[in-house]
Amino acid sequence: MSSPSAFIPRATPVAALEQRLPAIIFLDVALEGSDAIDVIRSLGERGYAGVVQLISGSNIALLEDVARVGERHGLNMRAPLQKPFRAEALRHVISGLHFDRQPGGVDVSLDEAIANNWLELWYQPKIDLRTSTLAGAEGLIRCRHPVHGMLPPASFLDSGSEQAHAQLTEHVIAAALRDWNDAAELGVYLHTAVNTSIGALTNLQLPALIRENRPKSEKWPGLILEITENEVVKNVAFMHEIATQLRIYGITLAIDDFGEGFSSFARLRELPFAEVKLDISFVKGCGTDLKNAGICQAIINLAHHFGAVAVAEGIETAADLQAVHRMGCDLGQGFFLARPMPKANFLALLRQRELHPQVL
Ligand code: C2E
Ligand code: CA
Ligand code: CA
Repeated sequence: MSSPSAFIPRATPVAALEQRLPAIIFLDVALEGSDAIDVIRSLGERGYAGVVQLISGSNIALLEDVARVGERHGLNMRAPLQKPFRAEALRHVISGLHFDRQPGGVDVSLDEAIANNWLELWYQPKIDLRTSTLAGAEGLIRCRHPVHGMLPPASFLDSGSEQAHAQLTEHVIAAALRDWNDAAELGVYLHTAVNTSIGALTNLQLPALIRENRPKSEKWPGLILEITENEVVKNVAFMHEIATQLRIYGITLAIDDFGEGFSSFARLRELPFAEVKLDISFVKGCGTDLKNAGICQAIINLAHHFGAVAVAEGIETAADLQAVHRMGCDLGQGFFLARPMPKANFLALLRQRELHPQVL
């Protein structure tokens, strides 16, 4: 395992965080050219899973408010240390940390996360590339661990019983349907999507779940279930059956990570997909890499040929955004546009209606 890393942001703290996310960050309230709240927002957007230790000479009430802001952004905030402090106090903070694993490298079992109610659904905006407006959002699961902080799905999804995976899917579908009402109250009627596995779909009473939780509003555009191409090709007949049944309830399917599995296009033709999501590995660099650009263009054309919406995922640069836009891709998603964020931040964003990529 790699050694512990600690980091005190200095001149350009937010820019420095682009380079690396250490296990612990000592954060002063006022920083040169920035402040603690700026850094907190940036860490929250990245889903930072390490520890944030506040230090400051300012008054304790302000420090406590800053800590609360950090918690609202999903960060693992430690009680503030007031300056001046002794090396002993610092040693105490560090000795309490679990440095044997880096943030993000922690493994927690899915069963444990469900049993303890640690799961929460975050949202990443999807942008309509023609109008540069918000078109929808993908719900992505996070685990708020009491010791390790916010954990990405890679830390807990691979583990877990079949039953736990079904429970997870039930949880994210119910949460997405509930959260839709909160966005609708702001006058935004979003087409939201959640991820699911075929195993979970077979083990769930989906129609009953949807009937119970679906928004009553006539403006509800339905829910999208994302299933990876790899899973789809192994279960084409079942997928057809379930897709047909779900359409009755306003649920459509998206094929996720498309291109990754090099599936037989002929077989996929039989399936009623509403969305095809280009795999991140092709979108990354498609603005400069001709091979990736060619694959993206082929998948976009194929999606349109099937009558499906093409979604480019993993847009990290202006060049890639412009490239997929030029190729006629319908929707875009990626860190360049917006990172996954907690529900409260997502709703705040809807309130501000801030999402207008100016680079197209
Ligand atoms: P996915 O469905 O392909 O989701 C997209 C992943 O790419 C997300 O990772 C997202 O944070 C990340 N991403 C978005 N934009 C960019 C970008 O510009 N650059 C890069 N490098 N990455 C980007 P995340 O949230 O860690 O999720 C990983 C995977 O875990 C998901 O991949 C999905 O397969 C699975 N997953 C997430 N939530 C759920 C869930 O509720 N249920 C199930 N069954 N699986 C889930
Ligand atoms: Ca997905
Ligand atoms: Ca994907």
